[in-house]
Amino acid sequence: MNCPCASNQLYSQCCQPYINSKENAPTAEKLMRSRYTAFTLANVDYLMKTHHQNTRAINDKAEMKQWASSVQWMGLTVMNTSAGLATDTMGKVEFKALYIEQGVLQAIHEKSLFRKEKGKWYYVSGEHI
Ligand SMILES: [Zn+2]
Repeated sequence: MNCPCASNQLYSQCCQPYINSKENAPTAEKLMRSRYTAFTLANVDYLMKTHHQNTRAINDKAEMKQWASSVQWMGLTVMNTSAGLATDTMGKVEFKALYIEQGVLQAIHEKSLFRKEKGKWYYVSGEHI
C-alpha cells in the first residue's frame, strides 16, 4: 500500500520501518510523517514512544486510540522544515493534516518542535497556527 503520509512511496519503504522499530527515523520530518501515519493506524504505542518524556501528557491511551480510529484521515502536507536533519539535534516541521470528524473536514496546522536524543528523534511540542 502507499504510505498514508502522502510521500508517494510504499508504506514498507517509508514509515513502516520506523513504526515497527526496525529503524530510527533519521530526520525530524520523517519522524513527523511516521507519527501522522501512526495516527491513521491508531497506533498509540508509537505515538507515546516518539513523544518526548518531558512533554508527554498522561493520556488515556484507549481514548486516544478510539479518537484516532473514529476520524477519517485525509492526508498530510509538510509545508516547511528547518534543521531536523541527520546531523542536527533540534528541528521544526510545519505541516497540515486533514481529517473528517463526524462529517466535518478539520485541519491541524501546526509547527512542531523535535529534539534528538541518543540518536532518536522525539516530538517535543506543537504550536497551532
Ligand atoms: Zn510515510
